[in-house]
Amino acid sequence: MSLRLAQLHLYVDIHRHDLYVAPVLAVVVAGLISTWVPVAWAATWLLLELAIIAHYLWVYRQFKRANPPARDERRWANRIARAHGAHMLAWSSLVIWAWQVGNFSSLIFVMLVHVGLISLTVSMSNAHLRLLCLDMIFPVVALVGPPLLEPGWMNIGLTCLGGGFCVLMMLVGRQINAYTTEAIELRQRNEILIKELESQASRDSLTGIINRRYLLDTAKQQLQRVGEDGAMLALMIIDLDHFKDINDRYGHLGGDEVLVAVVDACVGHLRSGDSLGRLGGEEFALLLPDTPLPAAREAAERLRQTVESLSIPLQGDIVRPTVSIGIALADQPGTALSTLLHDADLAMYAAKTQGRNRVVCAETPTPGGHFETIPAVSLV
Ligand code: GH3
Ligand code: MG
Ligand code: MG
Repeated sequence: MSLRLAQLHLYVDIHRHDLYVAPVLAVVVAGLISTWVPVAWAATWLLLELAIIAHYLWVYRQFKRANPPARDERRWANRIARAHGAHMLAWSSLVIWAWQVGNFSSLIFVMLVHVGLISLTVSMSNAHLRLLCLDMIFPVVALVGPPLLEPGWMNIGLTCLGGGFCVLMMLVGRQINAYTTEAIELRQRNEILIKELESQASRDSLTGIINRRYLLDTAKQQLQRVGEDGAMLALMIIDLDHFKDINDRYGHLGGDEVLVAVVDACVGHLRSGDSLGRLGGEEFALLLPDTPLPAAREAAERLRQTVESLSIPLQGDIVRPTVSIGIALADQPGTALSTLLHDADLAMYAAKTQGRNRVVCAETPTPGGHFETIPAVSLV
């Protein structure tokens, strides 16, 4: 979220409290001005003001519901400025409704109302500097203007006092705005940092897929569901064949390129619920929730063929990596992750001993049990 939009949200969040303050204040002030003006005038002002309050609170609600993107900030700020500006105009119009030229107590009343209004505006609108300035226009004019319309040093003094108060309050508003802006920026930077840290804590920095810890945590969570309504979990262990040779020939950086290319190719074959993670080195694991063994075997064979068909250009050569894949299935409640990993690992080692570049399934969850080997032939 852009800084301006965050400021607009804060402005609206603070002003939504108007719901509890503005109508009560309007009723009190309407009662007070009825001392000077006919009750019908005061009632008309009150009804007008209540309608305006209802309208701008509705605009705020629309804004929060729309949760607009940053590019719409200006449009919404203008809409809010108009809706809330009408409210400021209605309050400042008290000068016309309530002030009677020559009546000192009505002048002081009107000025005091505007001193209160300006203080409230600074405390509530400071989050958004442009809206603060717009909100201040009508009450400032209504505070410093009326005394000037009556002759006399005393009234000039009142205008100066009012003007000084307005300047002071604007400076206070700007200062608070600087602090809230800093707090918003700090919060936004923290959010980005936290996201980066979370990503670093769960991702493998070389390949970008999830790391061992996150993968095992995910596996533990998915294992807890196994047995419920027939849920199962297939686990593949995928190990690059003779990877040490690639490293020896092309160096560690060349080996890294091969790892990334293999992972990228595998990622393209994943379903939305699958989780591919790096167990360590050139060994990966793939979790396939709710996948029976035949389907997991087909998926593994597709991955094996995908890797086999890769041609990775490296230092003038073409590297064609292969993988050996071991699969184990958890379909009984209470299956331990260590058992599942162990079974898949044994199946993967069986694939190695049987010649590599092949898929082997652990048929039973017994360590050292039976294996079903898929030779390196096409399924299609
Ligand atoms: P096998 O077919 O039996 O799996 O043989 P292998 O050579 O693939 O297996 P081995 O365990 O002998 O060697 C794995 C190599 O992977 C050794 C290690 O230096 C290398 N390796 C581990 N992590 C990385 C890495 O992040 N980048 C690179 N380039 N190499 C790595
Ligand atoms: Mg290997
Ligand atoms: Mg290995």
